[in-house]
Amino acid sequence: MTVRTRFAPSPTGFMHIGNLRTGLYAYLFARQNKGCFILRIEDTDQERKVEGAVDMVYRTLETAGISYDEGPDKDGGYGPYVQTERMGLYKQYAQRLVELGGAYYCFCDKERLESLKDENGVHTYDKHCRDLSKEEVARRLAAGEPYVIRQKVPEGVTSEYDDLVFGRISVDSADIEDGVLLKSDGLPTYNFANVVDDHLMGITHVIRGTEYLSSTPKYNLIYDAFGWERPQYMHLPPIMKDATRKLSKRFGDANFEDFIAKGYLPQAVVNYIALLGWCPKDNREKMTMDEMIEAFDISGISHSSSIFDENKMRWLNGEYLKAMSAEEFYEVALPWIEKAIGDNGFDKKELASLMQTRVDILSEIPQKLAFLCDFGEHDVNMYTHQKMKVDKDVAVSAVRIARDCLASLGEWDEEHIKECVKQGAENSGLKGGQVMFSMRVALTGAAVTPGGAIEMAVALGKSESLRRLAFSEQMLLKA
Ligand code: GLU
Repeated sequence: MTVRTRFAPSPTGFMHIGNLRTGLYAYLFARQNKGCFILRIEDTDQERKVEGAVDMVYRTLETAGISYDEGPDKDGGYGPYVQTERMGLYKQYAQRLVELGGAYYCFCDKERLESLKDENGVHTYDKHCRDLSKEEVARRLAAGEPYVIRQKVPEGVTSEYDDLVFGRISVDSADIEDGVLLKSDGLPTYNFANVVDDHLMGITHVIRGTEYLSSTPKYNLIYDAFGWERPQYMHLPPIMKDATRKLSKRFGDANFEDFIAKGYLPQAVVNYIALLGWCPKDNREKMTMDEMIEAFDISGISHSSSIFDENKMRWLNGEYLKAMSAEEFYEVALPWIEKAIGDNGFDKKELASLMQTRVDILSEIPQKLAFLCDFGEHDVNMYTHQKMKVDKDVAVSAVRIARDCLASLGEWDEEHIKECVKQGAENSGLKGGQVMFSMRVALTGAAVTPGGAIEMAVALGKSESLRRLAFSEQMLLKA
C-alpha cells in the first residue's frame, strides 16, 4: 500500500502555525513512508472565503519547504483538487448513498426545524423524513420541493475506530444526528465532502486537528454505507496561545508569513512548529527537514495541547543563524543591513559578521546597527564607570589616546586596532579597560552597543572612527 496523506486547508484567512503544523505532519508522514502528499483546497464555504487566501497557501507551503506531489497545479490523476471544482460529484454520490440505504431525502422546511430547537437554540433532527416511502419521495422530488439529503445513521450500533494518536474512539449511534450531507442548494457539507474526497483521492491516512476527532465515527459510518475502506486517522491536539485560548486565524494569531516578515528563517519556524506537539525519541530540538522526516513517529505525538512560545522560537531561530556559514548569513542579513545603513558606504560583510552572533531574529539588525548612521551630541554621564574608575576627565584622556594612536594606524582590522590601543594605554599609564570603555562610548554615542570598542571601530572604518573620536573629545571638553 502506498501511503497517501493530504493537507486540506480552507482559504478562510491566513495560515496560522497550527494549520501549517497539520500540513507539516502529513508531509513528514508521507515522506517517511515514501508515499504521496496531496494538497486539497477545501473552499466549499464560500461565505467565509477570503480573497488571496489560496495564493497564500501556495506561498506558505513553498516558503516552508513543504512540497506536494499532487495538488491544484500538479495533477496526479485524482483531481480536481479544489472542492468547488468537484461540485458535480457530491450530488451524484449523495444520491447513490440514498440508493444504498445510507442516506435519505428530507423535505422539512425552516419553520419545522426551528420548532425542534431546545432552550439553547440547538436542534437535533427528529428523523421525520427518514422513513418516507419511495413513492412519496419521488412525487415530492418531481413536484420540485426543496430538499436536503441526510445521513441515515444506523440505529443501535456503536461506531468505533482506533485513532493512531488517541487510541479507541467510540460513539453510540444514538448520539449521532442524521446530519445534512447535501444542502438544499445542492452543495455538500464539510462532513460529506471530506469523506467523498478522501475516498476518491485514495487517502490512506487522514491527519488533522482534534476538532474532528469525535465526528470521525460519524464519517466512518458513511464509508461503511458506501462499502468503502476507511482510512486511518491521526488527530492532532490544538496549539494554544495561552492556557485557555486556542490560536485562531480569526483573531490574527501567529501568522506564518508575519514571522518570516519579522526576520525569522522559514526552516527555524518549521522546525519549531514540528516540536509543538511532537518530540523525537532522542529529544533533539534542532533538526533539518530530512532529519524530521526520518525521526517522525506517531508515538511521539502528544495527547495534550501545546502552548506556542515565541521566545522559544526566537531562541531556536538564533541557533539557526549562528550555525550558518558567514556567506549564508550575509545573504539573509543583507536586506536588513541595507535597511539600517541606507547608502552609507560601510563594509556590509563586516557588519554581517558583527551581527551573526548578536541577533536571534533578523529584524533586530537595524536597531543594533542604528549607531552607524545615528551619531551626535550625547549624554556625558555615559562616560562614568565607577568600577573601572572612569569619569569625565579620564574619558577625555582615554579618547585622546585612542585617537592619537589610531590616527597613524595602517591596517584597520581587529588585531591591529587592539594592539595599537593596548600600546597607547600602556604608554599613557591608563588601564586598557578604561580606554576601551571610553572609546566605545565615544565611537557610538550609546551606552549599549552591539559589540566592544574594537568591533565598533572596525564597523565604522578608520576615517569615521577618527571623526567620531574627535567629536566626542570636543564634546567632553566643553561639558
Ligand atoms: N478544511 C478543514 C480545515 O481547514 C480540514 C479538515 C480535514 O483535514 O479534514 O479545518
